[in-house]
Amino acid sequence: MIALFIACSDGQVAAALAALQEKEGEADADRFLVPGGPLVLTRPGMERRVALDFVRTQMDLHGIRTIYLVSHQDCSAYEHSLGGLGFDQQELLARDLRRVKALLENTFADVDVRCFVIPWRENGGLPSFGEAEPVE
Ligand SMILES: [Zn+2]
Repeated sequence: MIALFIACSDGQVAAALAALQEKEGEADADRFLVPGGPLVLTRPGMERRVALDFVRTQMDLHGIRTIYLVSHQDCSAYEHSLGGLGFDQQELLARDLRRVKALLENTFADVDVRCFVIPWRENGGLPSFGEAEPVE
């Protein structure tokens, strides 16, 4: 069974995303990559409708029943959308992930939605994106 990963199109998180797919045994999963990833599904109106259409199409084509929502810290799409990320990013990302999870569960029957955040690590060697962490 193929899964679908909805994640940010930022190439800097590509390696962390691939590592998460590998770890979850989902290396062949479909991917829906847009700036901000799950962010697009928090938007009202047209943007969300179009995004949901893409998700529905991918689910229908491959019989997808598992969706991974993957956000990341220091996301420039988020910064652009909100005019800055000066407050608690982790809390903001987790809140949006829970909202999008609820939206998908209410829109599609029998879908299993899992949420992850890719952290930005400042300490210990070169700053870089770390291993994706689950969000409950
Ligand atoms: Zn991003």
